[in-house]
Amino acid sequence: MAQARSEKVETYKALLNDFMAEHIYPNERRFYLEGERLGPWAAYPIVEELKPKARALGLWNLFMSDPHHGAGLSNAEYAPLCEIMGRSLLAPEVFNCSAPDTGNMETIHRYGTEEQKKKWLTPLLNGEIRSAFAMTEPLVASSDATNISCQVTRDGDHYVINGRKWYTTGSTHPNCRIMIFMGKTSPDNPNRHAQQSMILTPRDTPGITVLRPLPVFGFYGLPDRASEVLFENVRVPVSNVLLGEGRGFEIAQGRLGPGRIHHCMRLIGMAERILERMCRRAEFRTPFGKPLAEQTVTLERIAEARIAIEQCRLLTMKAAEMMDTVGNKEAKQEIAMIKVAAPAMAEKIVDWAIQAFGGGGSNNDHFLSMAYAVARLLRLADGPDEVHRNQIGRLELKRHRNTDVRRTGGGADVLSIDEIRHMTANGAWPRPAGWKE
Ligand SMILES: Cc1cc2nc3c(=O)[nH]c(=O)nc-3n(C[C@H](O)[C@H](O)[C@H](O)COP(=O)(O)OP(=O)(O)OC[C@H]3O[C@@H](n4cnc5c(N)ncnc54)[C@H](O)[C@@H]3O)c2cc1C
Repeated sequence: MAQARSEKVETYKALLNDFMAEHIYPNERRFYLEGERLGPWAAYPIVEELKPKARALGLWNLFMSDPHHGAGLSNAEYAPLCEIMGRSLLAPEVFNCSAPDTGNMETIHRYGTEEQKKKWLTPLLNGEIRSAFAMTEPLVASSDATNISCQVTRDGDHYVINGRKWYTTGSTHPNCRIMIFMGKTSPDNPNRHAQQSMILTPRDTPGITVLRPLPVFGFYGLPDRASEVLFENVRVPVSNVLLGEGRGFEIAQGRLGPGRIHHCMRLIGMAERILERMCRRAEFRTPFGKPLAEQTVTLERIAEARIAIEQCRLLTMKAAEMMDTVGNKEAKQEIAMIKVAAPAMAEKIVDWAIQAFGGGGSNNDHFLSMAYAVARLLRLADGPDEVHRNQIGRLELKRHRNTDVRRTGGGADVLSIDEIRHMTANGAWPRPAGWKE
């Protein structure tokens, strides 16, 4: 499948590559240092410095398919651009294309009222504020969204929110102003998928406490501002509900399509860069008198890495094109497949690179330990692998239920006695001479 190669995309690619060379790669060490020194509660100055530069060049909100708010690119057109951004952890936020803001912006754009958009989407699109998505809870298995149990009760024209959330990425950021909160407005509704609502909850509402930042494999702030948040009698106007009461599950399903595939696009860029580092290192490290690159195990790994990246890119492009042409719902198996395949691919390649770098692979001099954390966390965030595999499996079963086995040859019936007799009569399973039943 050919990558989207419109003139517009080629222009953006060239601009992005130039920006990465001039502003992103040379500033990465500073970015990591700021992350380490300032921690998860601070904005990092290098990000704020680079944002206006990126915006001035039009490298801004490229993810947003609505041309009134962004570049107006399709998913397939955005894929190669997102891949370039994914080469660095510094890049996505600089271009206002980072999670969870992109998913939240898309959610508000798709499901918000005009007033909600004016209040929250506009400043998010301008990069003036940041946001968080509060769904996962420490007390329930949140990979099943119907388990979400934080309470949202109605009190006149307000909702009152109570409960505990965690892995609420972004809520320690000082510019985080809005949270999309998911909780139960109708816990007794017999339809388990209509019990939840999503509510726009301003970060400064009394009763919200960010209890603590959570480390991700020991790292704070980077690569993810994971955090635990307490909601105690948080009052928000009923008009802050998104789409309508009881429709949170529906939004959760719709929200995750583009967000998931963006993660995969970025992982492909990250894997490309790490494979390049691994190749370069393998050529000049010479244990036991021979460059690593001449050891067959290294060649095998480099080859497997190249194959895996190409496979993932093609599957990502297929999913992106399906999202563009037949819609997110029809593309759900492809989205789920790439969400399983891309983090596993990236995790494996980073692991091989760490091995090739020896002890130096375990620190962040070459961005490897952080990359490992990114790949690994994405086997959990936006749904664990198993949940996606279950969905892929179920969809596969459904796909074959209605096929005509006479045309596909995919039958699985047990041989009938008549068939066995017919085959026996035609020479199958010959008995030894003189055999008697
Ligand atoms: C760094 C990071 C950032 C995150 N950011 C956010 C965020 O911004 N907002 C947010 O709301 N959440 C966020 N998450 C949370 C993430 O989406 C959840 O961790 C994930 O959905 C799993 O939910 P859980 O942790 O409750 O695990 P559980 O639901 O308790 O599941 C535990 C394990 O059970 C297994 N399992 C689950 N279901 C099945 C099944 N059907 N079959 C077989 N095995 C199964 C899986 O191995 C799974 O990992 C983030 C997570 C991480 C690690």
